[in-house]
Amino acid sequence: MKRIAVGQILQETNSINPVPTSLADFDVFGLAIGDDVMGEYGDVGELAGFGSLPDALGEDVEWLGLVRAVAWSGGPMRDEVLAGLIEQLVGPLRQQRTDGVLLSLHGAQCAQSCFDAAGKIIQQVRDSVGPDTPIVATLDLHANITRRMVRNADVLVGYQTHPHTDHVKTGQRAARALAQMIANGKRPRVSAYKIPMIANDDGRSTDRGVLAELWQELVATECCPDVLSVGLYQVQPWFDVPATGWTFYQACFGEAPPLDSERVAQACWATRTYAERRFLEPGDVVAEAAAITGRPIAVSEGHDATNSGAPGDSTLLLAELIRAEIPQGGALTFCVDPEAAAACCEAGEGAEIELTVGGKRDSRYCQPLPLTGKVQRLGTVQYTLHGHAGNNLQVSMGRAAALQAGSATVLLTEYTGPGSSPLMYQAIGLDPRDFKIVVAKSPEGFRNDYEPFAAGILYCAAPGCSNPNLKAIGYQHMSRPLYPLDDMTEIAEAKWAGRFGK
Ligand SMILES: [Zn+2]
Repeated sequence: MKRIAVGQILQETNSINPVPTSLADFDVFGLAIGDDVMGEYGDVGELAGFGSLPDALGEDVEWLGLVRAVAWSGGPMRDEVLAGLIEQLVGPLRQQRTDGVLLSLHGAQCAQSCFDAAGKIIQQVRDSVGPDTPIVATLDLHANITRRMVRNADVLVGYQTHPHTDHVKTGQRAARALAQMIANGKRPRVSAYKIPMIANDDGRSTDRGVLAELWQELVATECCPDVLSVGLYQVQPWFDVPATGWTFYQACFGEAPPLDSERVAQACWATRTYAERRFLEPGDVVAEAAAITGRPIAVSEGHDATNSGAPGDSTLLLAELIRAEIPQGGALTFCVDPEAAAACCEAGEGAEIELTVGGKRDSRYCQPLPLTGKVQRLGTVQYTLHGHAGNNLQVSMGRAAALQAGSATVLLTEYTGPGSSPLMYQAIGLDPRDFKIVVAKSPEGFRNDYEPFAAGILYCAAPGCSNPNLKAIGYQHMSRPLYPLDDMTEIAEAKWAGRFGK
């Protein structure tokens, strides 16, 4: 029986967000070590897909659980948190022989003084198991692929859907790749191509828009014999580290990769100026929503998307929703503000309360908003996420209060969490269908969960940690030149980009 090590350190990092990610942020999503990794979380997301390994191998597997640590998108991990999690991950690997390692990572992950957390994790695993044990790591489609990751992992396997709904399938694809390496004792050739561009999500889903046809080709190609993985990584652009950019990646047993990397890279490069969305300023959202018949109108608050790792407490749109006249039920939004949530809990349901809301976690883009409101409901936000960004994922956003202020109902939460799912509002008894406007702090993935019932969709942009206007961000560490920060016409102008592999 094969012994297979399994570990998960999953967080998308927004390096613009100054609020560091601490151990408490991992705690609320559930930390586990040892047998509990597969015992408690073997039916969640990528780990559920890893569970298909016995079928792929044709024999039973003894799982060596390392660590399971998931936190919602946010600022850089505290250095000691990353160091502690890595120690939990590699400690058992130094003591016990394994036949293979399955890792679930994000790939756009950093810590306070580590630009490439995923690369560091994979390298430490490699150093622990030695060169002969196969390592497969799963990643988000928004990963930043580094040379260190490619050098130390045998195969990287990324999501093939955006909105992300294929967590389990991605785990299954990783299990299949590992089973093939174990079965034939070979290691694949890997070809990667760094494309010197970043982009927001505008028109860059996998199911529609300018990349949909290319994605169909990539998914079909991975199904060919001897091909282990084909992935396009459209790095999330609020990741200010050296060598950030899109990457096309292939791993195969054959002599040459199945697709011409140059052709795919050029196809991506050709889409760099593509844009189809009209981003509204906060002051224009209410009037634009009023012009659409029916409700709710789902509004993407792109600049404060908790799904992109922003703090989730911007007051720029919030102030407009409170102030404006909004017939047909007003607006429903949320704000990560533990102090305000606690103040409402103390005041009690039905109380009129004066307080400040939001603007407390990052003072660069907005200020706390003083307001008077009525505490409508108190409770906790806990639910099981299915849909974009999670499969069977237990979410806890802690103590929560629904505060009525002006035309807005503001859900105040203790912790951050998915901004893309109506389940958050429903967890405390608020139904988005009862409101004219409902805010999603998500740039794109919310479509998966809101489109089935929303009367319309609008996109809002303003200064913030996940501002879709990338030229306004003020990056400090990215390698240059890089589109759209620099005026470029050819990939070759960026000497730091191009082909790499092993
Ligand atoms: Zn993603």
